[in-house]
Amino acid sequence: AKAKSRGTISIYEPEMDQQIRDRRVLHQDLSLAIKNGELSLHYQPQAMARQTVASSEVIGFEALARWLHPVRGFVPPSDFIPLAEESGLIVEMGEWILREACREAASWPMPLQIAVNLSPAQFMHGDVVGVVHSILLETGLSPGRLELEITEGVLIEDFDRGLALLRRLKALGVRVSMDDFGSGYSSLSYLQAFPFDKIKIDRAFVINLGHNPQSAAIIRAVIGLGHGLEMSIVAEGVETQEQLGFLADEGCDSVQGYFLGKPLPIGQYAALVGRNSGN
Ligand code: C2E
Ligand code: CA
Ligand code: CA
Ligand code: CA
Repeated sequence: AKAKSRGTISIYEPEMDQQIRDRRVLHQDLSLAIKNGELSLHYQPQAMARQTVASSEVIGFEALARWLHPVRGFVPPSDFIPLAEESGLIVEMGEWILREACREAASWPMPLQIAVNLSPAQFMHGDVVGVVHSILLETGLSPGRLELEITEGVLIEDFDRGLALLRRLKALGVRVSMDDFGSGYSSLSYLQAFPFDKIKIDRAFVINLGHNPQSAAIIRAVIGLGHGLEMSIVAEGVETQEQLGFLADEGCDSVQGYFLGKPLPIGQYAALVGRNSGN
């Protein structure tokens, strides 16, 4: 690391220095964010894939983290999740997110489900099985209503540990889904090797539907493949009627995206989750 920083002297730029200082400050702020109550969750509906929004019954929600910084305002998860990952803060933060999501979902009418993202560091370095287990007990959420979303990148790091963890999580009765399928290395052998219940087709393929015949072919193939492996398929990033119609026609199981509902505070979905609005 020393040699590297010495090498950068020749290309020193004040903006870079500022960026590094910015990140350091942001990191300090992030470590206080939970304590200060600046972190919250938004919930995005996941629905059955049917021809119309009205007939696409909501089956659950994905919890998505939000950080409202006192000075900077809203910081998107694409900025603070990687920061939390690098610094190890994600383990504590991820536990907070999981607890909050499970506590919320435990109050919903059956059989609405909750999907929670697990970050790689949380998965590989924390006691993820112990944490999930104790949060289920603590919140009283039935394990069958919890789904954990994991990106395949996690499993590449350490195959044996990844497999052992997935098996132990499934033994608790929770379901696991492979998030962002198709966005990374996406080896088919991972689908065979790991006991996923669900594949989430990455938004990138859905966006290109209608412009790019290859995307339609890939989505069709992933649905066939997933069903052949007895996995359920959800498509992410559904924004139009055309996309919804195509996915319903092709036998995709469920859909998620702005066309069905944006990620919002749960009070905005009060009618669906059977609670009073505004809280
Ligand atoms: P993700 O898990 O793939 O989540 C889906 C992202 O797509 C969310 O972005 C969501 O707001 C966005 N999205 C949903 N429907 C549409 C659509 O129709 N069109 C478009 N353009 N976007 C749509 P968000 O909330 O900004 O989160 C970004 C990423 O940050 C997530 O991607 C996930 O990787 C990470 N993240 C968010 N919350 C958490 C969390 O609680 N824990 C962890 N570990 N990661 C999180
Ligand atoms: Ca996700
Ligand atoms: Ca995703
Ligand atoms: Ca993603």
